[in-house]
Amino acid sequence: MTEKKEVSPKQESFIDERKIWADIEAASTSPPELVQETLDKARESKGLTPVEAAILLANTDKDLDQVLFETAIDVKKKIYGNRIVLFAPLYISSECANQCLYCGFSTSNKKLKRRTL
Ligand code: SF4
Repeated sequence: MTEKKEVSPKQESFIDERKIWADIEAASTSPPELVQETLDKARESKGLTPVEAAILLANTDKDLDQVLFETAIDVKKKIYGNRIVLFAPLYISSECANQCLYCGFSTSNKKLKRRTL
């Protein structure tokens, strides 16, 4: 059974794009010691903050890149073992407050009839 529900035009994205870009910009000048510290934390498999992820993504040191790849393999093995894990979203609604450019569920798509199962 489906129920039609309109998305309020007042809904706004909770994503702070300015902060994301500021974090990415700040991370671009991270010294190798900070990258190594972040990799040490990543190896604990307890997750990273968005700023820490930006630090790793901005790294240009080839040696640290190799450490990053090894760390990623270690974390993957620790969490998933020797398995391949696939994720598939199960949509129960076409409502969304975000505006991803590639997605038909984007809140800016006013032509879509929103439905919730
Ligand atoms: S991909 Fe589509 S459904 Fe997912 S958050 Fe972006 S706009 Fe919403």
